Amino acid sequence: MTDALQPPPLRVARPAAPAASAEGPRRVAWSGRGMAASDGAGVKLTRVIGQPALADLDPFLMLDEFGSDDPTAYIAGFPDHPHRGFETVTYMLAGRMRHRDNKGNEGLLTAGSVQWMTAGRGIVHSEMPEQEEGLMQGFQLWLNLPAKDKMTAPRYQDIAPEAIPVAQPAPGVSVKVIAGELGGVRGPVEAGATEPLYVDIRLEPGASLDVPLTSGHNAFVYVYEGAAEAGEPGQALERGRIAVLSDGTSVRLASKDGARLILVAGKPLREPVAKYGPFVMNTTDELRQAFADYQAGLF
Ligand code: FE
Repeated sequence: MTDALQPPPLRVARPAAPAASAEGPRRVAWSGRGMAASDGAGVKLTRVIGQPALADLDPFLMLDEFGSDDPTAYIAGFPDHPHRGFETVTYMLAGRMRHRDNKGNEGLLTAGSVQWMTAGRGIVHSEMPEQEEGLMQGFQLWLNLPAKDKMTAPRYQDIAPEAIPVAQPAPGVSVKVIAGELGGVRGPVEAGATEPLYVDIRLEPGASLDVPLTSGHNAFVYVYEGAAEAGEPGQALERGRIAVLSDGTSVRLASKDGARLILVAGKPLREPVAKYGPFVMNTTDELRQAFADYQAGLF
């Protein structure tokens, strides 16, 4: 999924200095809501990361939530577009999406499945709804690659719903572990330098748990159903709210009336980010090269 192609503005974000590692429970450092946006050929979505209030959260460049039972919100899909220099992670909660790329790869993303695409040096692909009515719901996360991996060969990890293990780390809590490890259960994604944790957590009414997190890794919680509390002290998060967590070695999650949320964490790269639309590199020269290569048909 991507913005329309335009010449890149020459802007490079500089990395923040690393903070001292922190022990103990995390709190909510910032929380906010996503912004209504339109992308691809006119798909309506909510941009949660990659919007003015939360431009990025190293190594996460973008988080979109899509969710509608109105076909006009999704039917146009995401026709052919390129990517270079990062990974896109699509997690379908409902609906079906057909994926095709210029290397002849094709796949159907069904409800509960994950596509972890490492764009690397470049692909051109389309992501189109395989339905004309009904609910289409899910997330697309953009995860940055370190400089050393930006020009790696493109790779797909297509993960079927039944290949995602479920942990039950506390009473009334079930967790689909997509990437990383929780409650002794390891997710199927073979992840790279950012060491991502990506889990989908269901809290029954009254349930709570403490999730261990790696100190120094950036982490966020996004509530997509019901309402939850995150951090110590607990901060209320209603549906549609993202919480960026402070540093620490765990996070407490709880819900009075039940909730579903995603918890995502990753090791910050602390490298310069030169980003425009579907290309995310380290320097403006590399960004220009990406445009030149794409226009020359080298993807
Ligand atoms: Fe895409």
